[in-house]
Amino acid sequence: AGRLAGKTALISGGAGGCGLAASELFAREGARVGIVDLPRSKGEELAAAIRAEGGQAIFAPADVSVSSEVKTAVKAVEDAFGPITVLFNHAGILAVGPFLETEEDEWDRLMAVNVRSMFLMTKAVLPGMLAAGGGSIVSTSSISAVAATPMEVLYDTTKGACHMFARAIAVEFRDRGIRSNAVCPGFIATDHGKRELVGLAKYGVDVSDAAIAAQQGRMCAPMEVAQAALFLASDESSFINGTHLFVDNCFTAM
Ligand code: NAD
Repeated sequence: AGRLAGKTALISGGAGGCGLAASELFAREGARVGIVDLPRSKGEELAAAIRAEGGQAIFAPADVSVSSEVKTAVKAVEDAFGPITVLFNHAGILAVGPFLETEEDEWDRLMAVNVRSMFLMTKAVLPGMLAAGGGSIVSTSSISAVAATPMEVLYDTTKGACHMFARAIAVEFRDRGIRSNAVCPGFIATDHGKRELVGLAKYGVDVSDAAIAAQQGRMCAPMEVAQAALFLASDESSFINGTHLFVDNCFTAM
């Protein structure tokens, strides 16, 4: 039973932040969960904890920006649980700083982890998903894809790419049973979110509680992003394709 019963879900960045919340939630909703995250992450412990609670999960370590590691991780999940019918492209990293101080290697690293990863992961998962008759891909965009945050030219650019990636995949694969959508969170209370606020404050951007309250009421909880991803992953959103689901309590509505 559960909203993802019978599905195999791969969650990139699934051992931390919102990815961790999604790994737990998707497993509770009946999915067999492949947690893909860096080798040094808590993926192994998380998978064991999910299994101890009666869920099905394995950890498949990978740096999602590296093709060979992505292929190995996808194969490990398919070998354990069968074809992947839900892909949550969620891993991503942050960069905060003045544009003129952004170095080329930092630019390339963020593009690789946030954008190339979606290309590699989706390309590795799609053959199995197509052979299984279809599936749902959820990619993590951000409010940053449509509203520039000060000091985040590089990060905003990567998220703009994730935003369009979700839509373009939907258009190309609509007739083959694949849905592709994006979740677009506001500021979330995760390690990433906390680092972002510290980074922005360093450059004089007002990220006081009052400023956050004015923009989005409060910080977003990781589980609130996971719940949105669950809806897009599940068959409840069967006619929702190529769209962007904002999880930002009016941030982008104002
Ligand atoms: P987080 O930093 O708390 O967790 C990210 C997870 O991804 C970690 O477990 C980390 O180990 C993993 N990861 C990082 N680089 C990786 C790599 N190269 N290969 C495999 N795994 C890797 O972050 P979070 O807040 O959950 O954010 C994750 C996603 O949400 C990102 O795509 C981010 O852009 C997006 N997002 C975050 C916020 C926010 O305020 N936190 C807002 C909007 C969008």
